[in-house]
Amino acid sequence: MFYYQNISQYQKQLFEGSISCLDAVEHYLSKINEHRDLNAFVQIYDVESRQRAISLDEKRKKGKTCGKLHGIVIALKDVICYKDHNISASSAILKNFNSIYSSTAVEKLLQEDAIIIGNCNCDEFAMGSTNENSVYGRVKNALDPAKVPGGSSGGSAVAVQAGLSMVSLGSDTGGSVRQPADFCGIVGMKPSYGTISRHGLIAYASSFDQIGIFSKNVEDAAKVLEVISGKDEYDSTVNQKKSENFSLGSNSKKYKIALFKNAMEHESLDHEIKKGIYDLSKNLKDDGHIVEEINFELIDFIVPAYYVLTTAEASANLSRYDGVRYGYRDTNNDEDLTTFYKRTRGNGFGKEVKKRIMLGSFVLSEGYYDAYFTKAQQVRNILVTQTKEIFKNFDALLLPTVPQTAFEAGRMQKDPIAMYLADIYTVYANLTGIPGISLPLFKHSNGMPFGAQVLTNKHNELTLLELSGLLLKDYKKY
Ligand code: GLN
Repeated sequence: MFYYQNISQYQKQLFEGSISCLDAVEHYLSKINEHRDLNAFVQIYDVESRQRAISLDEKRKKGKTCGKLHGIVIALKDVICYKDHNISASSAILKNFNSIYSSTAVEKLLQEDAIIIGNCNCDEFAMGSTNENSVYGRVKNALDPAKVPGGSSGGSAVAVQAGLSMVSLGSDTGGSVRQPADFCGIVGMKPSYGTISRHGLIAYASSFDQIGIFSKNVEDAAKVLEVISGKDEYDSTVNQKKSENFSLGSNSKKYKIALFKNAMEHESLDHEIKKGIYDLSKNLKDDGHIVEEINFELIDFIVPAYYVLTTAEASANLSRYDGVRYGYRDTNNDEDLTTFYKRTRGNGFGKEVKKRIMLGSFVLSEGYYDAYFTKAQQVRNILVTQTKEIFKNFDALLLPTVPQTAFEAGRMQKDPIAMYLADIYTVYANLTGIPGISLPLFKHSNGMPFGAQVLTNKHNELTLLELSGLLLKDYKKY
């Protein structure tokens, strides 16, 4: 029977000849089929992934040089472009639209022999925390189908959680990889801003967006990151350094870790999650690491700053969906152009996206610009400065990923403010551009998993991954 543990173990079996890429693809296709009710996938590339598996099997048997991700079965979030494949950002405005080019991340995956099995459901244009804002309907959490998987990359998270792919890609603008990873009990990593090219990633808020990785272990995330990171002539914000080697050896380092006191004492934090993080810091101290609580007075400003800046960027980014250039258009063309735009955008976008476009237009409007947009930028600048100071003294920061565990579908829809506020622990990394990861270390008495979030200095993915490997190996609580 096919059993997947990690990339190395799988590839070892491939090269020994005990399994084939086709065995793996058949396994995942049947799992996807078995779990269709979870609604994790919006497209399944069955014919093509079988063909690719066969050609990879031939390549390996002929003794040709194989790529680093040889035979790895991966799923993409429906915002990551793959040439000649449907891409819709789970929105009616792009339904039936085919990518005319591949994102750099996809190009790199293919160059290293990965197999793309399909693309995954998400919140429309990556806006949301529950995967309920999708034109394809909600995604279900495989641990409890009545509950949400988190969002916006809910489908990609469930693909890994339910064993429908080995790893998957999502995007994280304010927590959309780390939060669903927390809700689903898997690893979710957002690299530093500028680590992975955004070329071919459908834009939500360009100064925040970053492709992220879901996996069942830290080693797999490191391997995928090594392949898809690195400079790219199509994205000038990418760190121009050569992509690093993230392979993880054995680790006996002692770390100096900070804990945000104000975050830990925040009223929204579930007491079991709080206890989990405090117990973890105590265990770390007992093992010779240093964990210190430090103040973080700006905690209550980060969610407002995030929503002001990201909606502003979204209102500009989404102006391209006008029904003229591509995507859905309202064909009743006997009216003037303005009415045509209004009808196309009014019918094409869902409620949450329209709300954010309006909010973003408002904060950018003359008369309100300084009161909202400029102020939020000031908060962002202060955060960046403070963060640089913190990492002069510490190797890493430890935080909860989300203040609560996964909740019932429909519950938060009635209270959008509460939903936005639940992003309190994840948006900080996107505002400052630092890397973050959610590690599945805990289980709540309500039966759902929850994670610990680790953050390190900008472009220090190596420390993030090394420390994460150690935490997942030695400090998992269930
Ligand atoms: N929950 C956040 C939001 O709705 C995160 C989105 C994201 O990271 N794409 O904006």
